[in-house]
Amino acid sequence: MVEKPDLRVAHLYAHFLNMYGDRGNIITLMQRARWRGIDVHVEAIGLDAEFSADEYDLFFVGGGQDKQQQVIAGDLRRLSKTLHQAINGGSVILSVCGGYQLLGDYYRPHSGEELKGISLVDAHTIAGTKRMIGNVVIERPAGGTLVGFENHSGRTFLGKGVEPLGRVTTGNGNNGEDGFEGVAQKVGKGAVYGTYLHGSLLPKNPDLADELISLAISRRHGNVQLTQLDDSLELAAHQTAVKFRA
Ligand code: GLN
Repeated sequence: MVEKPDLRVAHLYAHFLNMYGDRGNIITLMQRARWRGIDVHVEAIGLDAEFSADEYDLFFVGGGQDKQQQVIAGDLRRLSKTLHQAINGGSVILSVCGGYQLLGDYYRPHSGEELKGISLVDAHTIAGTKRMIGNVVIERPAGGTLVGFENHSGRTFLGKGVEPLGRVTTGNGNNGEDGFEGVAQKVGKGAVYGTYLHGSLLPKNPDLADELISLAISRRHGNVQLTQLDDSLELAAHQTAVKFRA
């Protein structure tokens, strides 16, 4: 009998890093999986949590102000080995803004101590004097667009050969200089996604939500073909955002 797929999600620092309603990404992942009859279990992970590297298929970490990042940075480093093992073993992580910054080598805020990251991806972030705020549209390498909203002073620079999530057509993206936004990098058997797109990101970007669900489910269930949903509302919102931002 074919095992019914299920999805195990860890929402890292759910109560600390939830700037601009980034929790909407968790709601979207849950709903889009459940609409396909996939059982979803979401665990809100706080400080001092313990879990094994093979416990979750998908990790999500949202954005936050510098002070929230300072609160969780040390604890995230405590989980570094487990997260590296999890992603190399096939899990997927989606990170937004402040959470994204801490997956790199370091985040140097405008004031206060430099925060060492977990180097899950070859990148580093240095806060600038100008906050980058506003609507963003990016084009993905394989085609298609992503829309969202950015609000950050950190400027993220990807290491050589690290794949960005897309190319900026409206807004600033990673640093307002190199024309790229985010990261979408295979790591071992898994993948690391990072972005500055709040909004929250996934409700108006259903294709990316399904890309994450498919990748995460494949860790334990192999290639599961997701049934097509009626995304007319989501895509109408997406197109409105693209037109609005053009
Ligand atoms: N504090 C970080 C910055 O200002 C991240 C902000 C955020 O998560 N929106 O760049």
